[in-house]
Amino acid sequence: MSKTIIISNRLPVQLQISDGGLTAIPSVGGLATGMKSVHSGGESLWIGWSGLTDEETPAALEGEIDKALKNHDCAKVNLTEKDIEGFYFGFSNRTIWPLFHYFLEYSEFELEFWNSYKTVNQKFADAIIEKSNEDDTIWVHDYQLMLVPQMVKEKRPNTSIGYFLHIPFPSYEIFRTLPWREEILEGLLGSDLIGFHTYDYERHFLSSVRRLLGLEVSFNDIHLDNRVIKVDSFPMGIDYKKFKDAAISHSKNTHEKRSDFQIKLDDHKASAPDTKLILSIDRLDYSKGIAKRINAFEYFLNKYPEYKEKVRLIILAVPSRSNVPQYQLLKKEIDELVGRINGELSTVNWTPIWYFYRSLPFENLIDLYTSSDIAWLTPLRDGMNLVAKEYVATRIDKTGVLILSEMAGSAYEMNEALLINPNNFEQQADTLKSAINMPKEEQIARNMFLQNRLERYNVEVWANEFMNSLNQKREVIDTFISQKMSKNILGEIDNQYSKAKKRLLFLDYDGTLVGFHKDPQKASPDEELYELLDKLHKQENTTLFLISGRDKQTFTQWFVPKGYNMIVEHGVWISRGGEEFKLLEKVKGEWMEKIRPVLESFVDRTPGSFIEEKNYSMAWHYRNTDPDFGTKRATELNTVLTSLIGNDDISVLNGNKVMEVKSSNVNKGRASVRILGEDDYDFVFAIGDDWTDEFMFQELPDSAVTVKVGLRKTQAKYHVENTKRVRELLKRFVE
Ligand code: UDP
Repeated sequence: MSKTIIISNRLPVQLQISDGGLTAIPSVGGLATGMKSVHSGGESLWIGWSGLTDEETPAALEGEIDKALKNHDCAKVNLTEKDIEGFYFGFSNRTIWPLFHYFLEYSEFELEFWNSYKTVNQKFADAIIEKSNEDDTIWVHDYQLMLVPQMVKEKRPNTSIGYFLHIPFPSYEIFRTLPWREEILEGLLGSDLIGFHTYDYERHFLSSVRRLLGLEVSFNDIHLDNRVIKVDSFPMGIDYKKFKDAAISHSKNTHEKRSDFQIKLDDHKASAPDTKLILSIDRLDYSKGIAKRINAFEYFLNKYPEYKEKVRLIILAVPSRSNVPQYQLLKKEIDELVGRINGELSTVNWTPIWYFYRSLPFENLIDLYTSSDIAWLTPLRDGMNLVAKEYVATRIDKTGVLILSEMAGSAYEMNEALLINPNNFEQQADTLKSAINMPKEEQIARNMFLQNRLERYNVEVWANEFMNSLNQKREVIDTFISQKMSKNILGEIDNQYSKAKKRLLFLDYDGTLVGFHKDPQKASPDEELYELLDKLHKQENTTLFLISGRDKQTFTQWFVPKGYNMIVEHGVWISRGGEEFKLLEKVKGEWMEKIRPVLESFVDRTPGSFIEEKNYSMAWHYRNTDPDFGTKRATELNTVLTSLIGNDDISVLNGNKVMEVKSSNVNKGRASVRILGEDDYDFVFAIGDDWTDEFMFQELPDSAVTVKVGLRKTQAKYHVENTKRVRELLKRFVE
């Protein structure tokens, strides 16, 4: 039976060794909860690091650990202390984390970290390959494992692989500074579906894929050789019910059942009933902007001194990565800042900041969420920020104000919160003032919207949507694309070919017989191709036509001496058996004078683009421009041309990085059908990659064998992956 395999750096189970015995405790974090519906019923396996290095694992307990993990449908990847040092504390947390959170100055580009990252990613990939089957579905999580998809795909090309990044993907300008940027992208592209929290992260990723790898992206599909990789955004939700239910049961607690923490909070409230509690909860991480928030709080108290003794800021900073130097410095900075402000502003009755440096158990978090009038969360960058969502979920009477940084992924879905720029102190001071004075009705109205959305799009829905999309992707690929040339189909075509009395072959040139080149003149035929075409051309009872959008000068130079039949400029010119080109179609060319200056103005304004002028058409090439800019200009040119040509007999073709203007009555379909009518052919074959070839696929009779090169929507019956496969296919005809 096929199963789902989940891979993350850490397993959702914590191992504890005490007195030589072993306990495995399931963790309750967001991811573990979210994956419950995916990771259940014995049909799934979760692979990850157990949290114990090889050095910390007593050899005698190995078997027992595996057994304990198996009870939770988990399997471990063994990592050494050195692995953790280089891969986790090194590359993951000192290179990728700061870079992806826009802290370029903190990113360390150490070859040793990178090597360790590769080694450990390979360990994860090996574990997956060992424990999975071809028909399993794999879901890889987060920034520690970006190379895993490619490593698995290499060995398991038919396995469906999903990947989700839980942190931001930075803009191209930041990402390009990484020395191993191509490797990281290629690693991710081993996936079939890549998910991000927000559309912006997705956009940044696609931009890097286009610019750094030069791959074609259409909407959110990336075309890579014979594969289509889908990219989409899935904003992660929370276990809404868990937080809501906890808040409900918290509200029913009798006086005696209150936690010590709650008693302290209640005492505070009783001593100063008008004072508002402002809550700030984060891991102690520079991306969270804690120091800035404290400074902004001081700014607020100085700008609006009337709120002194009327507000109190509770800061919960959860210890994190404390062996990375930046985090130690940050801890020191915050300690000092809190000390200074409390020292300067405290009065007999009032300490402005309560500061806790520790992690709190779930019940105390609920105490904090439910007791605070305002949650003030101001990360400088945050992939999502779940605390914001959790705070809102616990507000069962729908009061409470959320102030949230627009730099957090969750801000995209939480429009009803008060959104702020964490660098704008003026705005933050004013927003705090509005939050303190916000009427209850307004608080309720805002939270109602927020809660409805959080309840609907909870973490389980998030996980299911991702899995559905991954499964659907498989189906879509199977249906929208023509049939792959299987052995059986190839055999059947060979059979038809050898039996046929008169064969007619149409072969497109660029993207079919040869690959694309930055300079079209350089994509000239190689010896192997000449040899193949010679054989086809000389074969008995076979009429071969090269059919191309190219100009006749180039093809004259390359192929007239060979004596091949050719149709060029999409069907304007024809040359048979080495003769000079003749007009196949009567075309008018007066329109060219009108269009030329328009194209020239686009060349002037789009560096890298150029005009190719043919006898009866003009093409604007933009393969060598900046990909985003080129595409934008192409759209602009399309609009300009469409309005210019009106009802004229000319049309605009959008080819592969080229826009071509030509007479409407000329296309490869019309040309191929004319040739077909000249004789009694009983085997017709057409192959091409571009959408200009679709005219042939459409117009040739149903009995024709039509083949698309690449995985794109097509009217052709079959497809092959790339030019190498095209040549292999044609070789079968002559062997
Ligand atoms: N959290 C916790 N104990 C604490 C403080 C916070 O378990 O003492 C949890 C909190 O409930 C939230 C998570 O830690 O689910 C923090 O997630 P978030 O997305 O806000 O930030 P991250 O730490 O993932 O960057």
